[in-house]
Amino acid sequence: MSHLFGPVPSRRLGVSLGIDLTPQKACTLNCLYCECGKTDSLTLERKEYVPTDEVIGELREYLSTGPELDAVTFSGSGEPTLHSGVGDIIAFLKREFPQYRVVMLTNSTLLHLPEVRAALMPADLVIPSLDAVSDDVFRKINRPQSALSSAQLIDGLAAFCAEFTGEIWLEVFLIPGINDTPEELALFRSVFARLRVDRIQLNALDRPGAVHWIEPMPRENLEAIAHDFGPPVEVIGKPMVRRRCASFSENTRDRLVATLRVRPCTLDDLAASLGLHALDAGKYLDVLIGDGVVEQQRGERGVFYRVR
Ligand code: SF4
Repeated sequence: MSHLFGPVPSRRLGVSLGIDLTPQKACTLNCLYCECGKTDSLTLERKEYVPTDEVIGELREYLSTGPELDAVTFSGSGEPTLHSGVGDIIAFLKREFPQYRVVMLTNSTLLHLPEVRAALMPADLVIPSLDAVSDDVFRKINRPQSALSSAQLIDGLAAFCAEFTGEIWLEVFLIPGINDTPEELALFRSVFARLRVDRIQLNALDRPGAVHWIEPMPRENLEAIAHDFGPPVEVIGKPMVRRRCASFSENTRDRLVATLRVRPCTLDDLAASLGLHALDAGKYLDVLIGDGVVEQQRGERGVFYRVR
């Protein structure tokens, strides 16, 4: 299953099967906080990064077994709307497996394109991101492909919100000292007023990002900002309790701990040695860090995980 990963216990979506449509790592942005590391291909080119038929074939094979899932989610290690076949894949899911909730995570940068907005229309839930309103903060936090601007992103997002009839949860990732200044928060407030969304969720770093110097925002600060904004702004939920995820494999957890007992590893080392998708390995690490079993430490090759 080279284009699917999980199911993983997602903190927002429950038990979620992931679909990864871009190679590691093609994206329109190179966000400071990206858990998938640095963007290798910073691009706006929409194309068939992986064969659409292959993805549909894998989904048909997997979903025909009737797995218990809360969501089938386009996320992965890059921007899913860069894939030119994303609309065909969503349409296939809604036609042949309508019982599953189809969720799209997008960084919003291509929503100004009518064909991208049209491709997402059959989805049940879209979670677009907006991390900055002013262009200088956008460049600082999201480090976009040079032709992009925050104004274009916001106009595309507003157009999408006006057209889409499903649910929209806007995600805002906050980094202390970068996009939490009173000026930027005031700009966010004015943009939120323009957007028809069901929820606005504030998120913060809980695993190492693409650069080592960014700090996680303390939960109490996030809560204070959410309180100031008022509904529908809320703080994103804590990681899902793993007992609720039938797909959480104690065996995988044990293999991961056993590997880390031998030597500290980076996320990529772990994923490669256990044959997991990096995002799968990351979800297990979230649980193990939350349980106090594993800790992180920065080394020469990046962030290493080891048993406490
Ligand atoms: S966080 Fe998302 S949008 Fe940002 S660089 Fe990573 S994959 Fe791209």
